[in-house]
Amino acid sequence: MRLLVATTNQNKVREIRQILDGLPVEVATLDEWPGLEAPEETGCTFEENARAKALYYAAATGELTVAEDSGLAIDALDGMPGVESARFGGANTSYPDKFALIYEALRAKGSLESSARFVCALVLAKGDRVLFETRGIVEGRIAREPQGDGGFGYDPIFFYPPYGLTLAEAGDLKAAVSHRGKAFRALGAFLRSQR
Ligand code: IMP
Repeated sequence: MRLLVATTNQNKVREIRQILDGLPVEVATLDEWPGLEAPEETGCTFEENARAKALYYAAATGELTVAEDSGLAIDALDGMPGVESARFGGANTSYPDKFALIYEALRAKGSLESSARFVCALVLAKGDRVLFETRGIVEGRIAREPQGDGGFGYDPIFFYPPYGLTLAEAGDLKAAVSHRGKAFRALGAFLRSQR
């Protein structure tokens, strides 16, 4: 079975390949369609964006396609940056600058402490049909300061209490508990149940 993992984010592709390792699927990536433009992400929820991406790429390529939309929701900031995680502070703003903006916003709320979660909405589509949807979540809190240089994106400021580490310090342990790990393992179970 061929499965197109439809994301332009190479960090996600790397993690997803690791999570799907062992499944009897041939993973294709968007590298095979170099001219294909990414759709705009205009949804208000992770699910809306994931559905739009999966249906867009499934129609454009004819492949069995999985897309995900993910991000960080910080409780003290009313769920920000949420669906805007990649674009928070401007699409070209570095992650250290995004972290500084987050600490500034938390300070303005009166405390650097906040619970937070990473969310991953995943949609599997073929042609114009959605075949499977799921959502993976990992609960944690905002670290007092950025720590670690593994992972990507907001991992250095996401402290995962059961590990006593940020996800940027967790290395290969990240996938076992991450939002993306949970969502893609659920996809794996669905694909196995269809064989
Ligand atoms: P998307 O490509 O629109 O789904 O944007 C996802 C964004 O959410 C990424 O660019 C990161 O900023 C953030 N994000 C999602 N998953 C992770 C993760 O596992 N670690 C750190 N940041 C993440």
